[in-house]
Amino acid sequence: MSEESHQELGITESKEHSTGDWYAEVVQKAGLADYAPMGGFIVTKPRGYAVWERMQDYLDGWFKETGVQNAYFPLFIPESYLEREKDIVEGFDPEVAWVTHGGYDELEERLAVRPTSESIIAPFMSQWIRSHRDLPMRLNQWCSVVRWEATETKPFFRTKEFLWQEGHTAHRDMEDAWDETMTRLEQYQRLYEDVLAIPPLVGRKPEHDKFPGAHTTTTIEALMPDGKSVQGATSHYLGTSFAEAFDITYADEDQNDQTAHTTSWGLSWRAMGALIMTHSDDQGLVLPPTLAPEQVVIVPIWQEDNKEAVIDYAAEIEETLAEAGVRVHLDDRENRNPGFKYNEWELQGVPLRIEVGPNEVDEGTATLVHRPDGESESVDREGLDETVDEHLETIFAKLYASAEETLEGATREAESREEILGTIGQHGGYVKCGWCGDEDCEEPIKEAIAAEIVMVPLDRDEEPIHDECAICGEEAEETAYFARTY
Ligand code: AMP
Repeated sequence: MSEESHQELGITESKEHSTGDWYAEVVQKAGLADYAPMGGFIVTKPRGYAVWERMQDYLDGWFKETGVQNAYFPLFIPESYLEREKDIVEGFDPEVAWVTHGGYDELEERLAVRPTSESIIAPFMSQWIRSHRDLPMRLNQWCSVVRWEATETKPFFRTKEFLWQEGHTAHRDMEDAWDETMTRLEQYQRLYEDVLAIPPLVGRKPEHDKFPGAHTTTTIEALMPDGKSVQGATSHYLGTSFAEAFDITYADEDQNDQTAHTTSWGLSWRAMGALIMTHSDDQGLVLPPTLAPEQVVIVPIWQEDNKEAVIDYAAEIEETLAEAGVRVHLDDRENRNPGFKYNEWELQGVPLRIEVGPNEVDEGTATLVHRPDGESESVDREGLDETVDEHLETIFAKLYASAEETLEGATREAESREEILGTIGQHGGYVKCGWCGDEDCEEPIKEAIAAEIVMVPLDRDEEPIHDECAICGEEAEETAYFARTY
């Protein structure tokens, strides 16, 4: 392969200088997704889907351990159903895609392509819940939803159709429903921390930015290396608004009719966007061992006279690791040299490379190379399965530590409007300040630098960090976290 075409395979954009173009290049060249013919839609390729499936497996397991059952509801929602909860209609109206025809016939009632499924799930919960014994009811569905996003789309981060899970639950009272909201938020946080190697901030959306119809929207916010924040998942306590609109009631122990309290919570493939953006580099994709389709790739380096010995040795190592449950691939292609293979697997994000050549065979060793920083170590063949496990853990820890360092350095305080504008303008990241709670105070910041309040602390009783609102100078009600967002 010529030098030139070799380069075309690699990443040409710089993460630091052209983050958007770099991201798009990584997504495509690492084989995760392609752009679909319709703007704002993507095609997820097998490697991309494999990463999503692993995330799904973790979450789905945790959901089931905590009482959630999977179900499936229709893709379409009758307009009259959507209209029953007025906030949902108003909130989603500009983004709803409508089906007006079935074949040649105009439908009597338009059907919304679900932007979220509260309006089709709640009416069934209403039928299925009779008494307090039916509660809590916890349903989840893995599906795609459609939101005709007006802002710029970006693979995984913001697409018009996206894959997600949406959980919907009903409870007897506020306390139970709030516990549920927190359980799901904690599971999302765990996914980010223990699987994606991204430490997030956890908080609540300000009143004016809640999910339509929600009492409280809680959120996971992840900082990206370019200083923007990503809303990584949300868990909503819906109060009784949906239960009232859809008549979700139950008979309590005394046979009195009570209104249920409901929740909903969702995590989409935006989490994959956050994953790619956070850890990858100018060589391509970087995946944590928790999610990588191949955790280890073995590259044998041979000359004609030792080829058989080297390949046999590599194959034995492959077998040892596979038996130990490691996802391992032996790249013994004849028509590619080792350098080419290194680059290719680096681009594809394999966390650990094992190089074996005649020296390793003679000495009974293997050379391990970490994807994130290229650190390499020669280790004994004996006990390799355990050594590899340790190295995979180290690689995960390296990724987490680096994301943590970015987050720690990027949370600052401000006491005036100018300071908010200057700090975010110059450094990005989060700026914490006192806030009076009025949306009008967010407006000038939005207009000037497109930064918004991404969250406030979860605990409503927490004292604001400053006594005064940094923007209007009135008494501060809470601490606001401003950031630019994706
Ligand atoms: P919501 O139902 O609006 O609370 O959304 C749940 C989660 O889905 C959000 O926290 C986002 O992480 C994600 N999400 C929302 N819109 C999109 C989109 N257009 N593309 C990808 N993910 C999205």
